[in-house]
Amino acid sequence: MNLNEMTAHELHDLLVGKKISSVELTTAVLDQIDRTEGSIGAYVSITRDQAIDAARAVDKKLADGESIGVLGGIPCAIKDNICTKGITTTCASKILENFVPPYDATVIAKLRAEEPIIVGKANMDEFAMGGSTENSGFHVTHNPRALDRVPGGSSGGSAAAVAGNEAIWALGSDTGGSIRQPASFCGVVGMKPTYGRVSRYGLVAYASSLDQIGPITKDVTDCAHVLNAIAGHDDMDSTSTAAPVPDYTKALVSDVGGLTIGLPKEYFAEGMDVEVERAVRSAAATYEKLGAKIKTISLPHTDYAISAYYLIAPAEAATNLERYDGVSYGVRIDGVDVVDMMKNTRTALFGAEVKRRIMIGNYALSAGYYDAYYLKALKVRTLIRNDFVEAFKDVDVILAPTAPTAAFKLGEMVDDPLKMYLQDVCTVPLNLAGLPGISIPCGETSTSLPIGFQLIGRALDEETLLRAAFTYEQQR
Ligand code: GLN
Repeated sequence: MNLNEMTAHELHDLLVGKKISSVELTTAVLDQIDRTEGSIGAYVSITRDQAIDAARAVDKKLADGESIGVLGGIPCAIKDNICTKGITTTCASKILENFVPPYDATVIAKLRAEEPIIVGKANMDEFAMGGSTENSGFHVTHNPRALDRVPGGSSGGSAAAVAGNEAIWALGSDTGGSIRQPASFCGVVGMKPTYGRVSRYGLVAYASSLDQIGPITKDVTDCAHVLNAIAGHDDMDSTSTAAPVPDYTKALVSDVGGLTIGLPKEYFAEGMDVEVERAVRSAAATYEKLGAKIKTISLPHTDYAISAYYLIAPAEAATNLERYDGVSYGVRIDGVDVVDMMKNTRTALFGAEVKRRIMIGNYALSAGYYDAYYLKALKVRTLIRNDFVEAFKDVDVILAPTAPTAAFKLGEMVDDPLKMYLQDVCTVPLNLAGLPGISIPCGETSTSLPIGFQLIGRALDEETLLRAAFTYEQQR
């Protein structure tokens, strides 16, 4: 097996055992990037020189007998909406094409303590708005498992980089499914932690009450390691929780005995691909065989989740994106006066989907419609949250498809935003409720496209998710 195809925990053992060097490993990943980027397009930028320098520094530490973190010396990709000091952070938007953050996001600062090797910034839907990475302002990303298909989105670059062995692991962000859905489409593991578990400081805001950063990895063990490195309270993010962070690797126990797993009937709705349904139900059967109790449950307000999400997220986005006015950040297009300059800048540099959401958001927030749309959506959000509270009285985890289909063809949905929004039916309820979720591969369609299922947990109970995911993974 080539080095770039291995997991972080396997590579860590090789590094500390002095079987390989970080430069050797980083070079293997950069070579893979050279070979495949032309057909995959997972990255917006590649930080080749910094990566090699950082790898040399780790090798020196190892040679000097110093210890390194579990992610130390291991190449990773960072979604391009996470601020990296001195490295362009574009959000795949032309409006931020030249933006070099003067500071690191908290997750990056925390990771730097472990000295991972950042090989590049991953492509995404512009400002994380989308589910296919086709909304990138720069280029589309192809699914490494089927080049004519999307990698999912919005963290499609992160998932494609990991699945295509162009990075060992990656960070993504999930506002309505953007870590879990691409992980499922590309056949890798992706976790959205509980809202507040990971600091959002330095994550460029899309919808602040929903956004959360999380790991995209090749297996569940790596997911636990990355979560260990990024979780925890941060004074710079007032929504981050003060709850203590456990050692997530302790949850990697192959045992689901005594666990009650709920199957929400609303998530197996009409329009779902039969092969996906079969694979997800067979994952449930595997759990049953392993000693878990399976229970059909109801989350009755699921049908309203998409409508609520597509009012709340655009409303927050419209507000958050007001800051791109050609004054303080990014690219400016001049005009005859300041208003004309702002108009020119925003007209020319925001893509169509971003503009659509700014319009929907401002409409929903406008004086005459606020009560009818935005306020109503917030009430629905509470109902959805209560559905989960009720369900978790009877079950420990909820098992559902991550997405209703496997990866669709590039171009298939770009002209039909509504159809694209409906793809998020299984993922957005968690964000509305602030709950954690993990997507794990569970087989393939007859045309060899990866299928993923999702485990949903109680708030701050990432440990049960990891335990259940790990147990399933051991069976494969
Ligand atoms: N597909 C959803 C959207 O377009 C989710 C995006 C995300 O999680 N960032 O908003």
